[in-house]
Amino acid sequence: MKKYQVLILGGGTAGITTAAQLLRKQADLKVAIMEPSEKHYYQPAWTLVGAGTYKLSDTERDEKDLIPKGAVWIRAFAEEIDPDNNLVSTSEGGQIEYENLVVATGVQYNWNVIPGLADSIGTRSITSNYDKRYAPYTWESLQHFKQGNALFTQPHTPIKCGGAPQKIMYMAEHYFRKQGKREAANVIFATPGTVIFGVQPFKAALQKIVKERNIHTFFYHKLVEIRPEAKEAVYQVTQPDHIPDVKDPINQKLGIRIEPDGSVVIPFEFLHTAPPQSAPDFIKNSLLSKRDDPFGFVEVDKHTLQHLRYPNVFSIGDVAGTPNAKTGAAVRKQAPVLVENLLKFRQEHQGNAAYDGYSSCPIVTGYGKMLLAEFDYDNNAAKTVIVDTSRPRWDMWILKKYLLPWFYWNRMLKGKG
Ligand SMILES: Cc1cc2nc3c(=O)[nH]c(=O)nc-3n(C[C@H](O)[C@H](O)[C@H](O)COP(=O)(O)OP(=O)(O)OC[C@H]3O[C@@H](n4cnc5c(N)ncnc54)[C@H](O)[C@@H]3O)c2cc1C
Repeated sequence: MKKYQVLILGGGTAGITTAAQLLRKQADLKVAIMEPSEKHYYQPAWTLVGAGTYKLSDTERDEKDLIPKGAVWIRAFAEEIDPDNNLVSTSEGGQIEYENLVVATGVQYNWNVIPGLADSIGTRSITSNYDKRYAPYTWESLQHFKQGNALFTQPHTPIKCGGAPQKIMYMAEHYFRKQGKREAANVIFATPGTVIFGVQPFKAALQKIVKERNIHTFFYHKLVEIRPEAKEAVYQVTQPDHIPDVKDPINQKLGIRIEPDGSVVIPFEFLHTAPPQSAPDFIKNSLLSKRDDPFGFVEVDKHTLQHLRYPNVFSIGDVAGTPNAKTGAAVRKQAPVLVENLLKFRQEHQGNAAYDGYSSCPIVTGYGKMLLAEFDYDNNAAKTVIVDTSRPRWDMWILKKYLLPWFYWNRMLKGKG
């Protein structure tokens, strides 16, 4: 049986960044990364792929070229974790033993949770930038769109990059204007959330944009079904005073109706959504997940990223059960904390490096415009950029489209920042 000092599950953003930083600090550490995929993707650019301004192929690299020097790549799925015996079973049939485990598998997409979604995604202008198979289809569908409701929505589960469902909406709205079809389009954002964005001053900025650009918003709208044949999305409204008034002329224009059981139906010509998400099943079913968490995320201390019951286990990125917004930007701030605490643990000291919940959401608001929301666990705006990023700016667009991808491939994944 193979044994490693550090076994990392997942060679995505978090897994590669962690391995690279660990080996920069201690080159002789025996590190292995278990990752089944031959390809690695820069997912933040899928929003731009959906808007027709970035090539999908430019978001892809070979995993083999990203595995840091000194790390072993185990090309397999982790299937079962036995943290009492420090063992991971793999899809190749064997078991791997570890001294320290880092869980970095990201989230699992549960398309089946919304009836009608799994079978229709990628057809009839029902799409999602969350999956590389469909981000190009978003662009194709926007080009084919002629008139009617362009509906942007999201599920009630936690999702990575919570801003992505609305980013593509701003891009689409701008695109419709550029193409002279804005008058024929009703742009609608229907969300289970209670506000357009949870952190000031970005909330105020986005409210202003939504109003000025005549985007129809519906809050407390929990997506429960998609009817692909009829091209309808069905919602349960979780706050009675947010049930749309079907006599309102605007809601009539949008074709909104209420069914006898109280469900709200919004018809669409184009629909963009995010899939419901959770921890992967094998994590959810393991001893590592939080017992009271229906989504099964890993039970780590939100500051140290160390497991609360198995101190030789750490978790980072989207699968970690920390209450931050799940983004690559969060991973960038988590990785040095995890690395320091893990290496301290190996020297039999308690690490006290602390992650403050930093995350950021680059919200593209049109072609050539972006605002950058940065915040922490307490929803305090947490600035790392000197200019005022709470209003859409061209330089932030350059950051998103050119500088951040460069930084990702050349610095972050190499453990250099
Ligand atoms: C449309 C979209 C837009 C986004 N925009 C932004 C943005 O603007 N800014 C930002 O910071 N973030 C953004 N994100 C989020 C960002 O991409 C993720 O938060 C980040 O990739 C998380 O890293 P991770 O390593 O936790 O997960 P991932 O990068 O998803 O990696 C997880 C890895 O684990 C592997 N894995 C899964 N199961 C197993 C298993 N059983 N065994 C072994 N390996 C396994 C997978 O193959 C994968 O390689 C966006 C994401 C999407 C989809």
